[in-house]
Amino acid sequence: MLAKRVLSSISFLLPNRQSTESSNAALKQHQLPKQAITLACVDLGQLSLAGIKGVILDLDNTIVSEDDRYLSPGAEIWIQQAKQKGFRFFVLSNGKRQYRVDAWRQRLEVPILSPAKKPFPKSFRRALLQMELAPHQVVVIGDSCHTDVLGAWLVGCFCIQVTTLPHPPRWWEKLCGRLVQIPYPVEQELWDMNGQPAFHPNQLK
Ligand SMILES: [Mg+2]
Repeated sequence: MLAKRVLSSISFLLPNRQSTESSNAALKQHQLPKQAITLACVDLGQLSLAGIKGVILDLDNTIVSEDDRYLSPGAEIWIQQAKQKGFRFFVLSNGKRQYRVDAWRQRLEVPILSPAKKPFPKSFRRALLQMELAPHQVVVIGDSCHTDVLGAWLVGCFCIQVTTLPHPPRWWEKLCGRLVQIPYPVEQELWDMNGQPAFHPNQLK
């Protein structure tokens, strides 16, 4: 403990005391939340302070529910605001319905790669290359641990996991969905596809 303090007090004398850009960013990124309720809850100012310059976004159940029933409140406005602040975007979707991906590419005006085969790093690396950013400058935002969080970890990006928009559960999600996704809070505002307030399915039961 004492040795650690002494070392830190004389660290300015050490030749490698100058932190690299990435280690500084890593320190600041420790201050970023690991989870957020929705995309719009992510503080853009905080991202900037942490040296984040780009966002790799998930589509299904992060921006729109995979059955096209719900929108994440304020997500599109948040993306527009982030773009105006200079953030670069890339969407990685594991979805295979190309017509849907094309529609969202036009609607959000961001590049989308699909199927991205997350968590494998190939698509994340392609996104980083296209954004011309290093992993420490990019945050991955998505709803699933086994695709978004794991993929971000494999390429060295920070990740913020958002709650998963209500959607019809797949068989495996019925069994272990809660291990990899955070349920959307019943009391949280929810939008339908027209941006109007919608009832959470659990409120209707
Ligand atoms: Mg998802």
